Amino acid sequence: MFDLNKLIRENIKTLRPYSSARDEFSGQAKVFLDANENALGSPLQKWYNRYPDPHQVKVKEALAPVKAVEPERIFLGNGSDECIDLLYRCFCNPGKDNIIICPPTYGMYEVSANINDVEIRRAPLLDDFQLDLVHLENLADENTKLIWICSPNNPTANAMHRQDVETVLNNFTGIVVVDEAYINFSRQKSLVQELNDYPNLVVLQTFSKAWGLAGLRLGMAFASEEIVEILNRVKPPYNISQATQELALKALEEVGQVNDMIKELVQMRVALKGVFEKLPFVQKVYPSDANFLLVKVEDAKSVYNFLLTKGIVVRDRSNVKLCDNCLRITVGTEDENTELVEALADYFFETKYIKS
Ligand SMILES: *Cc1c(COP(=O)(O)O)cnc(C)c1O
Repeated sequence: MFDLNKLIRENIKTLRPYSSARDEFSGQAKVFLDANENALGSPLQKWYNRYPDPHQVKVKEALAPVKAVEPERIFLGNGSDECIDLLYRCFCNPGKDNIIICPPTYGMYEVSANINDVEIRRAPLLDDFQLDLVHLENLADENTKLIWICSPNNPTANAMHRQDVETVLNNFTGIVVVDEAYINFSRQKSLVQELNDYPNLVVLQTFSKAWGLAGLRLGMAFASEEIVEILNRVKPPYNISQATQELALKALEEVGQVNDMIKELVQMRVALKGVFEKLPFVQKVYPSDANFLLVKVEDAKSVYNFLLTKGIVVRDRSNVKLCDNCLRITVGTEDENTELVEALADYFFETKYIKS
């Protein structure tokens, strides 16, 4: 049975969190002399001289209806990367506990585990890039605190079978983190609506992809109120800047515009896949539920270097397990995609000429 109390690190359970000036007094007052801010202002036109809301109440209130989830079940991080790190710090005892990842997958789960000195166990994806449930089950023991599932997965682009994710949620007594950074581009539904059924579920999302706000650094974790409360104790008090909170609020008024961009990106992804598949040196374009395509070519290094000479950067994933000779290509603007396709056509003609 899932017992959150048994999962939390002892030092976190007994932690007395930092109490900020904004925590100790949050009512109405005329004069604020409690936080050592600069009351005269700042060199900027808009001052930003006051500390931001440590609990991001307004952002969470605006986000809650968009995600159909209570504000109490939302945690905001300085990018998803902060949420990832905090999950380790809250639940994994360095040098003792372990976590499971399903490679090939997002690199930060591993880097963050290494930073926190937490053992990494690996249940590689099957050949079809789906979860290996048997291997996962065999790896988990009483010190396994987190299982990381990225769906849709980076870099393979596919969503995991929902049934498989639910099987893990039902059978694992630790926390299952489902990273939905690319969920807006997917045919699959988000798991955020299932929080009631799964007390061990943490869903990660981000403003960096579909929302187009990678530069703001704003990530979301959705989980039970209890888990959110633990993350809140451990986070730096003012982890989301005033500027980020204001800009996120503005963006949240434009959900329609974001949905239009998602539609356009998905259409371009479908079109690009069709074009790639016609190129003779392309062996496979994997199905995508994300805003990028994983493309297997004859000689990934050579395609990658050729594109660089044209000023086009893609991600070379050919050293990654199961991604032999694969490039990860993000969907760009219409013009960028055209430039890419023309460069790939040039590559074909030039290499054919050299070979013959
Ligand atoms: C891009 C990405 C993120 C987003 O990270 P941020 O820190 O929010 O920018 C998270 N997870 C995966 C799998 C990603 O590809």
